[in-house]
Amino acid sequence: MNLNYTTYRIICSHPFGISRSTHDFYDIVYVYISDGGYVGRGEAAPSLRYGESTDKVIRQLESIDSLNSMTLDEGILWCKKNANGISSLEASLSTAWLDLWSLKKQRSISDFFKSGNNMLYTSFTISIGDLDLIPKKIEEAKTYNILKIKLGVNEEHDKNIIKLIRNETDKLIRVDANEGWDLDTGKKMCKWLADHNVEFVEQPFKAQNLRDTAKLRDLSPLPLIADENSIKSSNIPDIAHAFDGINIKLMKCGSLFEAKKMIDLAHEYDMKIMLGCMVESSIGITAMSNLSPQVDFADLDGNLLIDNDPYIGVKIIDGKLKLPSGNGLGLTLNPEYKKDFNNLK
Ligand SMILES: [Mg+2]
Repeated sequence: MNLNYTTYRIICSHPFGISRSTHDFYDIVYVYISDGGYVGRGEAAPSLRYGESTDKVIRQLESIDSLNSMTLDEGILWCKKNANGISSLEASLSTAWLDLWSLKKQRSISDFFKSGNNMLYTSFTISIGDLDLIPKKIEEAKTYNILKIKLGVNEEHDKNIIKLIRNETDKLIRVDANEGWDLDTGKKMCKWLADHNVEFVEQPFKAQNLRDTAKLRDLSPLPLIADENSIKSSNIPDIAHAFDGINIKLMKCGSLFEAKKMIDLAHEYDMKIMLGCMVESSIGITAMSNLSPQVDFADLDGNLLIDNDPYIGVKIIDGKLKLPSGNGLGLTLNPEYKKDFNNLK
């Protein structure tokens, strides 16, 4: 078996602004594990919020020795060990490994996880940025049924954004404060947003501020969903009193296997479940989409927010996710990218 990797710069269609940062592009790493004519693909989209970077991912990849043939379970352990605690790297290795294993077994990933085909609508993100661009962004989002709005700046600014959006559309909105509010702002905003066709509020406060989150949950007419507080399954028992649901991201939890464990545990705690993403391309988004029939909400739009996605995988039909047919992840490399990026497989 062979391990290959390459960096790739994904370009945002609009500068991607959230409460703590704005990006025009992100550098990601594609990982390929190949064997006997099959290539398994994975993607690492490292996040600085979690202390990860492309450099860190590449340095760790350079330290990995050659691969021997492995069973599925041995491969899962190998990915965890060789990622050395870098979750986005583990995500790329474990996705490539499962893709390769499923391709060789001639099975789809969806079949592997017994997901069924109840595909969800995905929300489409309107990030923080130039307020004058909001009508244009709403127009561009017209094929999506649900909008996800990044807030968390301050009460006045956040209300202005919602008012501007409500001038254009009455579509269902999901709000993500990305840890940007304090308790007072959180209380006022949740009350106010409840009158503006908002479905839930994601991560109102800093992850270390669970005490205020639990207080807000008691008062808020809107459900609260954990994102920065919800990394792996081990977090769920500690946050279940403060949140109504969790957001699971492949880049945070490290594998579809861990994501599935989070889904099952969150169900035991009677929590709502959303599948989310970083700004990433179709490898990561397609991988996670395979679990979407098992959850309540999909926010799998990272690949829709970039202009140069080299892969073709999950599609959006009438606002709903639609998995590609075929074994493994069912991905293909867009032929237009083949000639300019010969490291892509
Ligand atoms: Mg979030």
